[in-house]
This record gives sequence, C-alpha cells and structure tokens, in this order.
Amino acid sequence: MANIGVFFCTEDEILTHMYERHDGKQQGVIFNPPEGHDRVWRNKFEKEHKEKYDFWPIGRVSYNTNSRQYIIYHDKCLGKDVLEKVRVLFNVPDEVVRYVVDDYYSCQECRKKIIDDDENLYW
Ligand SMILES: [Zn+2]
Repeated sequence: MANIGVFFCTEDEILTHMYERHDGKQQGVIFNPPEGHDRVWRNKFEKEHKEKYDFWPIGRVSYNTNSRQYIIYHDKCLGKDVLEKVRVLFNVPDEVVRYVVDDYYSCQECRKKIIDDDENLYW
C-alpha cells in the first residue's frame, strides 16, 4: 500500500515519516499528512540532525480522492532522480503519482536565491 507523509532531503539521505492515507487530515478532496514538518522533525529527527527542519529541501505526499492520485508536493530545487526515490520510498506506483512544486517549501539554498534575486531588482 502506498503511504502519505512528509520528507526531508538531507545531504546523504531522505528522511521520511509516513501515515496510512486514511489517517490523513482531509482538506477538500486532499488527504494531507496529519502533522507538519516542524513537529515531525522535533519528535523524530532533531536529536541526530543539528540543522533545523527547514534547512533542507522538504516536501509532502498527499492523496487526492478525486483524481485518485498521490501528489508529491516539493521544493523546486529537488530533481527528478530524488523525487523518484521519494516515490519508491512511499511505495507509490508510477502510474498514480503527480509531482507539484510548492513554493511554500523553500530550503536554505532556495531562500538565499530569493534574496539574491530581490537584490537584482534594485539595480
Ligand atoms: Zn530548495
């Protein structure tokens, strides 16, 4: 069975926290993970990883009851190869997955770029 959940892509591994899709929080046609990244990070990963949760590129896997697809919302800097690994980790079949950039997910590197871009605007 495929899962929903949250993930963090650190330098050398993809950290995940998964739930059965019926344990998700329903918002319209979407079942989202019931806990946010900050909470999962605090409870599960903070001890071994000194960085804050939003240092890394992150994302979530949700389920759309209308299209019957799993949607992997992700930081725009994550490439196809990493997203494919996320899909396999969450056990989502290739034919029912959709990848969507979520601008809300912005790692340390992406935030730096936003600042640089803003500075360029004032030239
Ligand atoms: Zn990023």
